[in-house]
Amino acid sequence: MAEEKLCTRTEDFAEWYNQLVIRSELADYAPVRGCMVVRPYGWALWENITSWLDREFKETGHVNAAFPTLIPMSFFEKEKEHVEGFSPQLAVVTHGGGEKLEEPLAMRPTSETIIGHMYSKWVKSWRDLPLLIVQWGSVLRWEIRTKLFLRTSEFYWHEGHTAHATKDEALEETYRILDIYERFCLEQAAIPAIKGTKSESERFPGAQITTSIEAMMWDKRALQSGTSHYFGQNFARAFEIQYLDKNNALQYCETTSWAISSRIIGAMIMVHGDDQGLVLPPRLAPIQAVIVPIYKNDAEKGKVMEVADRVFKELKDAGIRLKMDDRENVSSGFKFNDWEMRGVPIRVEIGPKDVEKGSVALARRDKPGKEGKSFVPQDGLAGTVKQLLVEIQDSLLKRATEYRDANIHDPKNYEELKKVVQDGWAFSHWCESAECEAKVKEEAKATTRNIPFNQTEKEGTCIVCGKPSKRKVYFGRAY
Ligand SMILES: [Zn+2]
Repeated sequence: MAEEKLCTRTEDFAEWYNQLVIRSELADYAPVRGCMVVRPYGWALWENITSWLDREFKETGHVNAAFPTLIPMSFFEKEKEHVEGFSPQLAVVTHGGGEKLEEPLAMRPTSETIIGHMYSKWVKSWRDLPLLIVQWGSVLRWEIRTKLFLRTSEFYWHEGHTAHATKDEALEETYRILDIYERFCLEQAAIPAIKGTKSESERFPGAQITTSIEAMMWDKRALQSGTSHYFGQNFARAFEIQYLDKNNALQYCETTSWAISSRIIGAMIMVHGDDQGLVLPPRLAPIQAVIVPIYKNDAEKGKVMEVADRVFKELKDAGIRLKMDDRENVSSGFKFNDWEMRGVPIRVEIGPKDVEKGSVALARRDKPGKEGKSFVPQDGLAGTVKQLLVEIQDSLLKRATEYRDANIHDPKNYEELKKVVQDGWAFSHWCESAECEAKVKEEAKATTRNIPFNQTEKEGTCIVCGKPSKRKVYFGRAY
């Protein structure tokens, strides 16, 4: 697999990405165009992502449930903006059991409608609120131009759907989840994502407020990496989600929904990967360390394997996710390239000399070559490896943060903005009019990413039209 060199990021970033996803065995193309097969290595990575999020959701009072894939078409027509937003992407089932269905059924593109329908049955009184349900699964949105993980017709995610008695509670929920998403990116994925509010034109269909976390990829494009929406009473009115308040008066609920999808794997690839392959953050890597025993003959093999087996047991007992690569049919060099391609954070090399000296060689994936290699004692190796995993995690976040900050610009005028967004982001004042936003999109192919919270800068003037502006927004070209 690792025999031919990967194309470099500078040569062709899109091609580098496509080759990398296939060769690292994260995913493969499915026979149906636009769909993907997530391979075991990719799924193990996804499981590490989902298990962290699942724990956070449960700690904040959420519970999991499952709703059907098929949704009656009439449900979509109940919320005007929602149906307009999703109609072009719907896959519709018209036949079942060899007969034409009375009402066509949509494959879910998202589940606000069916969950709203069920909530209207379940919510009766203020005592039933808040209702905090998360569904884990896949959804289907018909796509023409697809890219593994980043944009496929079917993709995996969780979708949280909550109903509350008051606006304040629903808003609090919207931002609580966004904070969890931000923390996930920073602490787990080592991605310095920026949280903020989306512009009106970039809102989720049917939402009153859409918030997002936005991350900068290696090619300086933006990737929306998670969203949390406040719906106000839009869906509650469309689906009659009502409750009796403490005075016995009938009220509409306030609802939210939010998601992170398997797209986040694409973000990790594009933020951390290098010309040798994937670079995975240790906290999420399916394999955190790989042991490669090195020997030339049976006599050496006996001695080396004795140490390798002992080291394997020690590291495994210490809770490190571990792999022993004792394949006989390939060279050590092949193994090194193979695990570099798959982004394993640490390689532990053990050869005859290491056995004599009571040492091992550690190679860290984030620093290829000599710079990342160290020779350490076998004694206390589990502690050394754990410490190194922490260092690698921190160093990935630091590197990505410096890269992001170095590529966010403060253009002086509109002409300069058009230039800088071709190879970076601009952080500029904007009057929040759709006209100015459309102009940037048309003339510079850049969109507003989000308006970050807690801005310290004073009011200014819109970089496009010169009118007064209260807040700054990120502009960038996006995936
Ligand atoms: Zn303007």
